[in-house]
Amino acid sequence: MRKITIAIDGYSSTGKSTVAKQLADWLEYVYVDSGAMYRAVTLFAMRNGYISETSFDKKKLIEALADISLEFKKNETGKAEIYLNGENIEKQIRTMEVSELVSPVATVPEVRRKLVKLQHTMGEGKGVVMDGRDIGTVVFPNAELKIFMNATAGERAQRRYKELVGRGDTVTYEEVLENVTERDHMDTTRDDSPLVKAKDAIEIDNSEMNLEDQFHIILQLAKDRIAGRI
Ligand code: C5P
Repeated sequence: MRKITIAIDGYSSTGKSTVAKQLADWLEYVYVDSGAMYRAVTLFAMRNGYISETSFDKKKLIEALADISLEFKKNETGKAEIYLNGENIEKQIRTMEVSELVSPVATVPEVRRKLVKLQHTMGEGKGVVMDGRDIGTVVFPNAELKIFMNATAGERAQRRYKELVGRGDTVTYEEVLENVTERDHMDTTRDDSPLVKAKDAIEIDNSEMNLEDQFHIILQLAKDRIAGRI
């Protein structure tokens, strides 16, 4: 069966990675979480003191980009986890602190160029599902299937809040909602590769959809594309 490239873009916490993972497992494709890569660069910048709530030394981060090496490796359950210079940082990149600083880091063109180059290498052989903000527009503009996910900000914040609290983080719903809204704003208004629906993307609003229905809709679209039906 021919292998295709599947790009899943959309706003924060729309469940892109959940469906992208399900799809990659089912199709036996490679899954790439591009957001994890921006989060990893953010964690690197935080650890080196290049960014905090009150300051951002872009120049220092740009100079240090060559020192960043990223890779995904599967853990014992088959889940892909991200490594920064050989260290597994999958848990450390999911905190509110990283969520609050990642969008400014993602505005830096040099950061984007480095990560897009890596993403091209990861998707080279086709048979890839990649999720993010600019996958269908910038990274793989020729992807055979492009999905643009959306849901109301309230619904998205509610889902992310449950996830964080479930992990034992102390956050309030209001904090999460504010973060989701702020990231939407920064991601859609930045100059370099803003979040925008590709012309040929299929939009899916999952505010009132359960995970199973959403998966089946997207899987059918993928099967049709693979078979060349649509
Ligand atoms: O997908 P996730 O919410 O983990 O992404 C974190 C942040 O990384 C986004 O809010 C966005 O600022 C940035 N990002 C991006 N381009 C991508 C993926 C993520 O700018 N392709």
